[in-house]
Amino acid sequence: MRESCTCDEGRAAADAPLADRLTEAIQCLRHASGMELRLDEPMAPHTSLGVGGAAAVFAIPHTIEAVCAAMRAAHRLAVPILCVGRGTNLLVREGGFPGILLHIGEAFSAVEVEGSRLTIQAGATLAEACEAAANAGLSGLEFAAGVPGSVGGAAAMNAGTGGGQIGDVIEAIDVVHEDGSLGRCLHDSLDFGYRRSCLRDAKCIVVSVVFALSPAEPAAIRKAMFEAVENRCRKQPLSLGSCGSVFKRPPNDYAGRLLELAGVKGLRIGGARFSGKHANFIVNEGNATAQDVVELIETAKRRVYEVTGVMLEEEVCVIGESLPLQ
Ligand SMILES: Cc1cc2nc3c(=O)[nH]c(=O)nc-3n(C[C@H](O)[C@H](O)[C@H](O)COP(=O)(O)OP(=O)(O)OC[C@H]3O[C@@H](n4cnc5c(N)ncnc54)[C@H](O)[C@@H]3O)c2cc1C
Repeated sequence: MRESCTCDEGRAAADAPLADRLTEAIQCLRHASGMELRLDEPMAPHTSLGVGGAAAVFAIPHTIEAVCAAMRAAHRLAVPILCVGRGTNLLVREGGFPGILLHIGEAFSAVEVEGSRLTIQAGATLAEACEAAANAGLSGLEFAAGVPGSVGGAAAMNAGTGGGQIGDVIEAIDVVHEDGSLGRCLHDSLDFGYRRSCLRDAKCIVVSVVFALSPAEPAAIRKAMFEAVENRCRKQPLSLGSCGSVFKRPPNDYAGRLLELAGVKGLRIGGARFSGKHANFIVNEGNATAQDVVELIETAKRRVYEVTGVMLEEEVCVIGESLPLQ
């Protein structure tokens, strides 16, 4: 028999050192059923860039109860916690993440269709969402075909293309709040904007998304999806690891144009390089480190600012700690 969990009792005070609070959080997570834990887990294999420092705790819940337990423990012990989907828009600095990275992935990929509503769990890929919509003869997600990542990550980021953004077709989102409670957020409360939603700043985890779509001919839906993917293959350097667009589009301009103007296209630091095919993509040429990518981002921002006066803002989510200066 396992010892009973101390999760809701509390031992370490919120002002105890982080290491003590983290140890207690790990004990709580070990007692949560349906939770897989890895300690000091390098994040490179969990991100599409293929770089990244280690997560002190990489937690893989298999049930919503396990997600709730993790959020409750992290909240009570004031331990940093952040969700990781498929890691396609994430850069973990070389010094690693000092708390819990909670992975919402394959375990959460159920799909349900009811009329023109598609409900899909947050760990499903956008590709799976697009496929389910096409199979059901539901239109609205065609623009997202070829965008990698999870449904939860796409909702939090309000992922989009020139053809639309995911928030436009979201009716509601089911979340686990930071205190471990479950809730439903309706579209109007989610504050969707360009590559943002209130979910990015709020400490909550998306567990499923309800899309409101429109009936259409499956063949027409598939044709539009195919064209979206083809267009992407033509313009993006998809044979190397990347995180998609590194910078957001500045008002009335394009980050790629400014990066080219500043002579950053093709610039290399270590194993990371601004792609020659798409100026706003950093690619991993095989042996890049998170530090190479961070330095490349900082250099690009500085050069673009010097040349154009525009300060670019990262679209990629950069988390974790820098290495101490030598
Ligand atoms: C080749 C390539 C092309 C891309 N093209 C596009 C594009 O055209 N348009 C576009 O918008 N993006 C694009 N992206 C970026 C990325 O695919 C999307 O932002 C994607 O939706 C992120 O999902 P993810 O699961 O990978 O999120 P992650 O990278 O794992 O996380 C990104 C952010 O979302 C949060 N998050 C993830 N899952 C959850 C969850 N369940 N609950 C709460 N928060 C969560 C994370 O905490 C983090 O802040 C591209 C990336 C690549 C590699």
